[in-house]
Amino acid sequence: MNLVFLGPPGAGKGTIAKEAKVFYSIPHISTGDLFRAEQEKGSELGNKVKAIIASGQLVPDEITIEMVRQRLSQDDTKNGFILDGFPRTIAQADALAGIVDLDYVVNFVVDKDAVIKRISGRRFCKSTGRTYHVIYNPPKVEGIDDETGEPLYQREDDAPERVATRLEVYEKSTAPLIAYYRDKGLLVDVDASPAPETVLENMKKALTK
Ligand code: AMP
Repeated sequence: MNLVFLGPPGAGKGTIAKEAKVFYSIPHISTGDLFRAEQEKGSELGNKVKAIIASGQLVPDEITIEMVRQRLSQDDTKNGFILDGFPRTIAQADALAGIVDLDYVVNFVVDKDAVIKRISGRRFCKSTGRTYHVIYNPPKVEGIDDETGEPLYQREDDAPERVATRLEVYEKSTAPLIAYYRDKGLLVDVDASPAPETVLENMKKALTK
């Protein structure tokens, strides 16, 4: 199953994708995670995109499309994939259409206030990538990863002043993809406001229709 997860930052796309990839046995490809991994490695690509990501703006289409093209050429995507955070512009969506056919585009629908609450409490462990939320999914010990005992961090672009930029960028560049994919008959709306288990169940039901 070839899936795209669409929705504003903080809608829970990554959280649902981590469960859905196990259920459907397909890889979860998050362009944000791929960029962050490149930054951690200190690669040329990572260094090039660092300042853009920290500012909350989008990485240029050519760079992002090329990275996704390479990732989708790997063998593990043969039986499907979940693209999380890509496409984010019409140009990316057009490029994706030239690479693969999609089965569904899941549009995670959630209001702005909920998104801000989710993002402001989000924390992660640098080495495992495990994510937490200070209220909705707290670690056993405050500020510490359950498995490794390492400290938890807030993403630089999750800082309040960056979140406003990211939401503006979403409205301007990414929200038009809702109509784009609805016109193609690929869009499935899923209410992303309930707890993740409920969102996941509702999505699974919607994708069998
Ligand atoms: P995310 O983890 O999906 O919120 O992505 C974090 C950041 O990575 C975004 O704010 C962008 O700067 C960059 N990024 C991720 N995916 C894309 C994309 N498809 N196009 C452009 N920039 C992206």
